[in-house]
Amino acid sequence: MAKEFNCKECNAKCCRYVATEIDAPEDEKDYENILWYLIHKNVSVFIEGKEWYIQFSTPCNKLDKDWKCTIYEKRPKICKELSINSCEEYGHGKPHNFLFETEQDFIEYLRKKGIKIRDLD
Ligand code: SF4
Ligand code: SF4
Repeated sequence: MAKEFNCKECNAKCCRYVATEIDAPEDEKDYENILWYLIHKNVSVFIEGKEWYIQFSTPCNKLDKDWKCTIYEKRPKICKELSINSCEEYGHGKPHNFLFETEQDFIEYLRKKGIKIRDLD
């Protein structure tokens, strides 16, 4: 059974990033683009199911110092749609199949798949 929400305890984890779906990379140009994303600070890429996402770790400006939403009643639709089941902290939110936090994580993933990619260092 899912635990109850305790947003204060988790310090508003889901309000401290923006993630959006991207096309799954298919060729060298796409791989290079992902490397480019990953050499930026606070940018990661992850795979959930079959979908690929880019994530920017940056807190929402509407959080107060106690991690509470200051526009709760008027918060965007995407925030309202979060259900207990999709809460990654206390619900059944799917863990990432793969999480790439650095370009090395991604290079390693490709190499394990037998895909050659140049190292940036
Ligand atoms: S909804 Fe879940 S992830 Fe988001 S702040 Fe609350 S407990 Fe944390
Ligand atoms: S608007 Fe409120 S609920 Fe939505 S991300 Fe910002 S702080 Fe979180």
